[in-house]
This record gives sequence, C-alpha cells and structure tokens, in this order.
Amino acid sequence: MDADVVIVGAGAAGLSLAYRLTDPCAAGVRTRTARSVRSAPRVVLIDAPAGPLRPPERTWCFWEQGDGDFEEVVAKSWERLCVRGPGGQVWESRPHPWRYKMIRSSAFDAFVDARLTRSPLAERVTATVHRLTETADGVLVSGTLPGGRQLSLRAGWVYDSRPLPRLPPARTTLLQHFRGWFVQLDTGKADAASSFDPDSACLMDFRTPQPEHGLSFGYVLPLGPDRALVEYTEFSETPLPTEAYDAALRHYTSEILKLGTFDVLDTEQGIIPMTDARFQRQVGRHVFRIGTSGGATRPATGYTFAAVQRQSRAIANSYRSGAVPAPPPPHARRSLAMDAVMLRALDTGRVRGADFFTGLFERMPMERMLRFLDGRTSIREDLLLGFATPVLPMLRTVAGLPLLPRRDARR
Ligand SMILES: Cc1cc2nc3c(=O)[nH]c(=O)nc-3n(C[C@H](O)[C@H](O)[C@H](O)COP(=O)(O)OP(=O)(O)OC[C@H]3O[C@@H](n4cnc5c(N)ncnc54)[C@H](O)[C@@H]3O)c2cc1C
Repeated sequence: MDADVVIVGAGAAGLSLAYRLTDPCAAGVRTRTARSVRSAPRVVLIDAPAGPLRPPERTWCFWEQGDGDFEEVVAKSWERLCVRGPGGQVWESRPHPWRYKMIRSSAFDAFVDARLTRSPLAERVTATVHRLTETADGVLVSGTLPGGRQLSLRAGWVYDSRPLPRLPPARTTLLQHFRGWFVQLDTGKADAASSFDPDSACLMDFRTPQPEHGLSFGYVLPLGPDRALVEYTEFSETPLPTEAYDAALRHYTSEILKLGTFDVLDTEQGIIPMTDARFQRQVGRHVFRIGTSGGATRPATGYTFAAVQRQSRAIANSYRSGAVPAPPPPHARRSLAMDAVMLRALDTGRVRGADFFTGLFERMPMERMLRFLDGRTSIREDLLLGFATPVLPMLRTVAGLPLLPRRDARR
C-alpha cells in the first residue's frame, strides 16, 4: 500500500478529515466491538490543481459552544444573532453558550496544511483524480499530475469529496444561491448613515423583495463597526445571473440597510443544493463519500461545516478503533424527515418562506433552533417546533409526501 487512507478533495470535508486522522494526540481506541487498535494512518490528501475543479475561496460559518479546535483561524465570532421580519421586526438573542463563528477557507487550508507538514505520515498531492478502482485489499486511485504524468496510488481506504456530476433523485430539490459583498463603509463621508454592530450577526433579513417562488433574505456578518460581509440569498429553483445578485445587493445595502458610501473589497458567490435526495455514503467496499457529495449538507439550511466536523471525528475514531471506518449518517433521520416536509411546503407554495421562518424564530428560542439544526433536540422539542409552523399546510404536506416519486432534479 502507498497509503492507509487517501482523501480526494481538500475542501471543508477533505481538510477536516485529514486534520482528524493526523491528530498527534489521538491514541488508538479499543472498543468492545472492534477487533484491534490501528496505529496512526499514512494519509495522502489529493486536491485538484487551481482551475475549474477547485472552488474559489469561501467563508464557512457554524455555531459551537465555547472554544473549539479551530479557534486560531476563526476570523470572527458573534454572541448575538438576529432575524428580521418583512416589516422590520427584529428577534435578537444571545444563544449562550453557543457562538456563531466564521472561518475563511484559505485560513483553514493553511491551518490544516501546517499540521500535515509537521506529520511524517501525511502528504499532500496536487492531481486530478479520474478513477477509483476496487482491488482485493483496497483501492487503486488513478489521476493526472500537473504536467500530464499519471498518478497511481494504492490505498487501504478512500474518502471521496469530489462534487457529484448530478444530484440523486429527490422529491424536492431547491437551490440556495447567493452572492455576498465584503463591504468597507466610508465612515469619513458626510452621508455615512450607519455602522454595524460587531457583536450581532443577522442570519435572515426578510425585508428583501420576495421572489414569486421560494424566498429571499439578506445575511449580514459584521467584521467590525465599518466592515461586513453582506449577502443576498434566495432559496428557489434557478440561480440568477451575477448582475441580478448585484442589483439585489445594491438595493439591500442602500435602500434597506442604508449603508451610505462604501467600497466592495471582495465578493463570494455560491450555490448549495437543498434536497431530500438520499446520498450514498459507501460506494465500494473501501470507498466512502464525504462532505456535500456524501449528504453532509443539511437540506433545510445548506449548513455543512458542523456536520463535516462530527463525521470526520467519528471516522477518525472508528479508524483508530480497528472498525470499518465508514462515515456515520451526517444527519438524524428525524431531522431529514422534517427538512423534507419544509422543502416540499416551500416548493409547492403551501407556506410563504418569509412568514415560515420568522414564525419559527418568533416562537422558538434561538438556542433551541441551533440545537435543532444540529440534530440535538428531543422528540418533544421537535413537536413543539412543528406546532410553531403553519400546522395545516404542513400536515397536508406530510400526508402527500410518501406518495411522491423521487425524480431527477429538473436542472
Ligand atoms: C460560497 C459558499 C459558502 C458556504 N458557506 C457555508 C457556511 O457558511 N457554512 C456551512 O456550513 N456551509 C457553507 N457552505 C456549504 C458547504 O460547507 C461548502 O460547500 C463546503 O465547501 C463543502 O465542502 P466539501 O468538502 O463537501 O466540498 P468542496 O469544499 O467543494 O471540496 C471539494 C474538493 O474536491 C476537489 N476536487 C474536485 N474534483 C476533483 C478531482 N477530479 N480530483 C481531485 N480533487 C477534486 C476540489 O478542488 C475541492 O477542493 C458554503 C458553500 C458555498 C459554495
């Protein structure tokens, strides 16, 4: 074997798994079910060269209690979170002990890279992976190195985070599509109207004009009194042309936030699938999918980073314990079922997105909402959450859902 573990793709999932597998402090764990304890694995992390396969820099936000493992690279954290209704009503709370945190992907990459560089058992390779072939005792990873030479590696286990060529069939598939501006206010100008509250992040601001289908909202992450990431997001079927996001952002920043004069220092843009599709996690005896392509993206919200952390920890633990190091389900069945109902109700127009979400935040404590999104709420709490939604349209959706076939996404 050239490596015990090969990880394909160095995005959120690949980097996180490499980080956990190369933890110098983690000892082998013996469990009752496992037959042996494995020693630390030789890990190769392969990522595509800069170009069309490599996604641009992005920010990953997640919530966590107290300090976590990535504190060194947390660009900003917020202890207060707010949601704004279409009429400007504000629901703000301090969901102690949770904090909302932001990490930039380049900083996370450098942080994990430093650990891999220090580890005698880890290696990073730049290559485009084309094929994973099962062998008697592992997997042959084939690809192309920069310059055109062939890559051929034999691995015990492979974790593949390459995006899927198409989404699996689903009853509902929406897209969360968005564009953000990193703005710097011109506080010296006389028309500088407002500044940001650096301790409060606005998760959803429904004062944006609502589209015919789905919903839209603004998202504001203040990085200082005069700096913020301001995004315009839609949950709908089709992404917009960049000019349309820019027009929506111009309207949001000037007419709604009334930011006055500012510079746009940087941008970020993306599309995240929101689907009740079933994602396969094991695609061969020794090959697993991780990250978005393994179903780690929470259908109702697009949040992925926290689920990826839970999965990476679990994979590393089962590897060390000597068990089959398969990724556990990234989300609880009950959470996925509730998300499927929400997506369907939204897609059919049975519920109006802005009212649905503001209703939830109005009736549910933010702390419980965050736990719900992490799959940590009890059945009783989930039922209470269900009653905080428009009950009749949701019940009609629940009744109709099992009859719907799973189809290929329309896009
Ligand atoms: C702009 C944006 C912002 C987001 N913000 C958040 C957020 O705040 N919080 C959150 O929880 N989620 C967020 N998400 C959702 C999700 O966390 C990200 O999409 C995340 O990057 C998914 O991680 P991943 O590892 O599954 O995929 P990616 O990060 O997309 O990684 C896939 C990797 O595979 C590599 N690759 C592709 N093809 C090949 C090949 N043939 N050979 C070798 N390597 C290959 C790519 O180079 C890439 O590094 C965001 C998504 C986007 C697009």
